Amino acid sequence: MTEKKIKFPQKGTDRAEVLARMQSYRDKDANWHDGRTWSLVYHAGDEHYEFLKKAHNMFFSENGLNPGAFPSLKRFEAEVVSMACDLLGGDADAVGNMTSGGTESILMAVKTYRDRARAQRPEIKQPEAILPMTVHPAFEKAMHYFDVKPVHVAVREDFRVDVEAAKKAITKNTILIVGSAPQYPHGVIDPIAELAAVALTNGIGMHVDSCVGGFLLPFVRKLGAKLPDFDFRVPGVTSMSADLHKYGFTAKGASVVLYRNRDLRRFQYFQYTDWPGGLFGSPSMCGTRPGGPIAAAWATFNAIGIEGYIEIAKRIMENTKKLQDGIRAIPGLYVLGEPVMSVFAFASENADIFAVADQMEARGWHIDRQQNPACLHLMVTPAHTPILDQYLSDLRESVAYVAANPNAATQGAAAMYGMMAKIPDRTQVRAFIQQYMDTLYDV
Ligand SMILES: *Cc1c(COP(=O)(O)O)cnc(C)c1O
Repeated sequence: MTEKKIKFPQKGTDRAEVLARMQSYRDKDANWHDGRTWSLVYHAGDEHYEFLKKAHNMFFSENGLNPGAFPSLKRFEAEVVSMACDLLGGDADAVGNMTSGGTESILMAVKTYRDRARAQRPEIKQPEAILPMTVHPAFEKAMHYFDVKPVHVAVREDFRVDVEAAKKAITKNTILIVGSAPQYPHGVIDPIAELAAVALTNGIGMHVDSCVGGFLLPFVRKLGAKLPDFDFRVPGVTSMSADLHKYGFTAKGASVVLYRNRDLRRFQYFQYTDWPGGLFGSPSMCGTRPGGPIAAAWATFNAIGIEGYIEIAKRIMENTKKLQDGIRAIPGLYVLGEPVMSVFAFASENADIFAVADQMEARGWHIDRQQNPACLHLMVTPAHTPILDQYLSDLRESVAYVAANPNAATQGAAAMYGMMAKIPDRTQVRAFIQQYMDTLYDV
């Protein structure tokens, strides 16, 4: 492969021209604004979008690294965390921090349990955490970074974790059990109460990953859905992650990690006392913390309020129902499991679903493919309202095309995804991903 290198520019370019060039580079970007994507961007309408930009830009230079210097940011963060605790069943003892996203929230939670075990259970040399197969890869990443051994547990037919298997997986080295509300791939909630009871009985921590659901499930419930408790209302749940920049509809770079009490959170902090630059204390991974996302989160909570979020949730769930009904009406297609909110997957009994994905991409959709089992993933927002019919008619056409052209599964991306899913030696697949990533970050 020929590598093209770009040299650092000798001279500056007129700022207006730079901006114009940037705008032109957007040409080929996924069109999230018109609902053509099913992940990555959460859009709650143009009015909110303009408001978010204002709130974000007001504080885009301020730095949350030292809240002492910016009492405004300190206030925003403390209030956002407090509101999140309120929403998720935390009592007066519940605490937390804002982070840059779900991954950082999860990294911090794993580090917290590891450091608590180091302090309180020093006999453990290799800490272990119990993870449902469907848990977000941010946990794998966290375990990898912090040297906690992931112990994977199977899910049942309904894609919710097998609690008996989780119980059996506990050893004297277990420091943490994780459940998701809901999990990302199929949008189902793990049996949180049962898992938390196991955690309580065994004196270990229980983290609920509500990154995608934390700011939607409470409102779906207020709309009348029968949902089990999944948050701090469940005894034994000791921490949670919930992303503001997903269904909280705040600016990107915002999540919360919450703890049942301060005793646990203390293990999240990092301190260094001997630096010539001064005494150092930091709550999370980042040093410099952009003020924009913190400010925009506070602004959004206050601008929308519970009633506004319920209104948004209503639109989201209407869109979701329309999509699921439409998908089920297409011959051969079915929805996996019993998704509780607006995140779900579907597959086909007869057509190659990856070939269907290729057909959808040819029709201008950005499609998310999943494996084990092969299916396509949707995450629904209010931005999808105007395109539901188009999506469903394109989907119907795509399925018909694949049924009439069985070769479609052996061509294009479908062939590649199909093959990758079946290679038993996953080190080969890892090598492929590595190579792919190299090219991804080339000029
Ligand atoms: C999105 C997501 C994460 C990771 O969050 P990022 O903000 O992408 O880092 C973790 N868990 C679940 C369930 C998610 O949906």
